[in-house]
Amino acid sequence: MRVDRTDEIINNILQLRLDIVKIDLKLDQAFRAIEIASGKQTPKKPIKQHEEQTEKEWEELADLGFGGGDVMRCPNCNEYVVIDKLKYCMECGQKLDWT
Ligand SMILES: [Zn+2]
Repeated sequence: MRVDRTDEIINNILQLRLDIVKIDLKLDQAFRAIEIASGKQTPKKPIKQHEEQTEKEWEELADLGFGGGDVMRCPNCNEYVVIDKLKYCMECGQKLDWT
C-alpha cells in the first residue's frame, strides 16, 4: 500500500514537471510574438532603391500601380512599397514612416 502511494506521488511530480515545461515553452512563444509585434509597430522609413530594375521588376512595379518616381522598399522584408502613404507593408505588416 505504502509503495503504491509513493508511486502515485512520484507520478504526480513528474506530471507537474512536464506541465511546467509546457507552460514555459508557451510563455517563450508568447514573448517572442510580442517582441516581433512590437518591433513592427515602430514605424520605419521605406528604403529608396538605387540600383536599376530588371524588366521583370518593372512589370511587378506596374502591377502594384507604380506611377513613376523613386522605387521604395520595405525596411523589414525588402518588398516594394510603392503606393504613397501606404501605412503598413502589405507583405509583412511593418508600419511605415513616410515623413
Ligand atoms: Zn515588409
